[in-house]
Amino acid sequence: MIGKYFMQFRTSWLAGPLLGLVVSLKSVFALDLTRAGEIKECAVGEISTWTDGADKAVPYASLNFLYNPTGAPPWFSENLVAELIQRASNKWSECGISAQSSIGDQPHYLMNNEVFISWNDIKSQGNIGASDLSQRRLYLSPSVFKNLREMRPSYDASYTLQMTLSHEMGHFYGLVAHSRRCVDVLSYYKNNSGELCNIRDRAEFARVIEYRSALPTACDIERCRRINR
Ligand SMILES: [Zn+2]
Repeated sequence: MIGKYFMQFRTSWLAGPLLGLVVSLKSVFALDLTRAGEIKECAVGEISTWTDGADKAVPYASLNFLYNPTGAPPWFSENLVAELIQRASNKWSECGISAQSSIGDQPHYLMNNEVFISWNDIKSQGNIGASDLSQRRLYLSPSVFKNLREMRPSYDASYTLQMTLSHEMGHFYGLVAHSRRCVDVLSYYKNNSGELCNIRDRAEFARVIEYRSALPTACDIERCRRINR
């Protein structure tokens, strides 16, 4: 898939008129191949999704994320999680949908734009996080985070929690399908047939434990804009 991506780029540059040639050459060389580059820029043709869902515009002008800290692993303080939710929603709001976040243990059933975030092993069904779009519930798994801490006591799992929140919150911004671009927060790396996600430089993949960004990338935001315009 990566090979194909570069092939497509090269084909259009050789076939293009003189002006196109200059512009395309510049953009080929300007493309930042590092993970940081992939996070901050979304090149033409890079938005790609797995065929696992249909994106859907958000039917509200804004979203409210209500966080219930009950049952959280003790190392994730109420304030820390609230801050991670705020960071994710600040970034997602670049797509044109504003969001507010607050802490509380009772969902407001009459507020249609409220997403209730809570810790629940049963509802998250073995996933680190899960989203129930029709019920507007976002679940985080305490036991998966406990296992992660046992396996890697020195690893700061707030990165993983930030990534999980950004990913699950993205589903509520209308990104239902998963991204095929490895670095996108909405990505998954491999499908059931063993096909891999797309990356600018495959050698970069192994350099970090988690290639996926902790916050929405330029392509996540661009896809969100297209869905919601
Ligand atoms: Zn997902």
